Amino acid sequence: MTERTGIYIDGTWSNGAGQIENRNPSDTSDLIGVYAQADAAQLDAAIAAARRAQPGWWAAGVQKRHDVLMAIGTEMMARAEEIGRIIAREEGKPAAEGKGEVYRAGQFFTYFAAEALRNQGDLAESVRPGIEIDVRREPVGVVAIVSPWNFPIATPAWKIAPALAFGNAVVWKPANLTPASAVALTEIIAKQDIPAGLFNMVLGSGRAVGQRLVESRDVDAISFTGSVPVGRGIAAAAIANMTKIQMEMGSKNPLLVMDDCDLDLAVAHAANSAFGGTGQKCTAASRLIVHSAVHDAFVEKLVKAAQAFKVGHALEEGTQIGPVVSESQLAQNLDYIGIGRAEGAELLCGGTRLDRATDGYFMAPTVFANTRNDMRMNREEMFAPITCVQKVDSYAEALARANDSEFGLTAGIMTRSLSRASHFRANMRAGCVMVNLPTAGTDYHVPFGGRGASSYGPREQGRYAAEFYTAVKTAYVAAGAPE
Ligand code: NDP
Repeated sequence: MTERTGIYIDGTWSNGAGQIENRNPSDTSDLIGVYAQADAAQLDAAIAAARRAQPGWWAAGVQKRHDVLMAIGTEMMARAEEIGRIIAREEGKPAAEGKGEVYRAGQFFTYFAAEALRNQGDLAESVRPGIEIDVRREPVGVVAIVSPWNFPIATPAWKIAPALAFGNAVVWKPANLTPASAVALTEIIAKQDIPAGLFNMVLGSGRAVGQRLVESRDVDAISFTGSVPVGRGIAAAAIANMTKIQMEMGSKNPLLVMDDCDLDLAVAHAANSAFGGTGQKCTAASRLIVHSAVHDAFVEKLVKAAQAFKVGHALEEGTQIGPVVSESQLAQNLDYIGIGRAEGAELLCGGTRLDRATDGYFMAPTVFANTRNDMRMNREEMFAPITCVQKVDSYAEALARANDSEFGLTAGIMTRSLSRASHFRANMRAGCVMVNLPTAGTDYHVPFGGRGASSYGPREQGRYAAEFYTAVKTAYVAAGAPE
């Protein structure tokens, strides 16, 4: 692991104006490092450097951009295990999941390397004779990226890769909880032959550095992933400046378990999507809407599955669920246990902090039954290893419950009925619908995003990403007659 702990501005690593400690959530005695915090002047310098660098990068052409992105992606895939351990150490997901995340992040870069080559426009005949029209996609300019800690490399990768592929410059504010991952990704980008200032990584708190970045009039577009309250504030700042914006936020993803499903498969998918990544995924299955005919059998098996997970140190062999990311996140999770009980939900397992050999933020996978859709646990994103079962008597009731949410990121159905699966696919109000699959787990070459409070602005990923990272220009040309 690198010893570097700084910020990267205008092609140079530097110390910040302040510092923060980065500790391992599996073992709080493990100090990973003391990382830089930028001040306002350093952030402004990063934005100015990006502005200067962007035209040269666009002018360098598609082959250059392809080659740089391909090199970044290839190195990330080759070093997935090593960098995956950095993620595991500072974020707390098991090392194998960290490795998978870095490999996937590499795939975003290699995918968008090809998209850079594929940036094709349209030709049209004008309604006026003698005029030709072409429609091209140009870079938007300087893109501000604000990313969360739960996928500290994959989320920035799926934003940075298209930003660079389409000729933009980047100012990235990573989450303060995961600075080592940010440094690792930045080191790979920084070693490429790119203009100084094209890519900048500015560590600092969201309230100070993040807020100043999204309020800047020198930023042309903002891509954010994180919580709804912060997203609301960022949207307001963006609209005040007429800055283009794209946001992915929380969700309360439902998984419908129908009476005709493969019950064991339903239990496996429910458990993995509810508790994988310690439940800290925007795609986690947090509302399990179960048909009464299979309810009791499903719940019994789900509790067994939840209790069978090995919860422990993220770098320990065999760990399936690591710690919660931070002390405050754990405190919030435990508050929700009290809230659920007070509202009358039945706690079937978990609900407690776990002791392990090291002092970490471990929490037992938790299942609540007899919950109502209007309970806070079923309305608010908890980002916790907590899932809530609701009982229904029909598919129609299940669908209505699933759609009764302000969110709409992913949604799944477990059924052997083609008609129910097709109806669900057409009528579920969500950005991604899954049939006989977990709610978590998506591909890298197709769009990702949601509806309602889950997303705002154009989709991320796949060729749809061009909508956000480019500006469309329509050119009219009257060539005239040759002499
Ligand atoms: P936040 O939304 O606070 O953080 C996401 C990113 O935004 C971080 O980089 C953060 O910086 C930054 N940020 C915070 N405030 C501002 C601001 N005013 N202006 C600009 N940027 C800002 O989420 P948290 O990490 O605090 O997590 C809190 C909750 O959010 C979780 O419990 C979960 O419910 C939800 N969440 C959802 C995610 C999702 O993918 N759906 C991802 C992460 C969180 P910094 O953290 O460094 O201060």
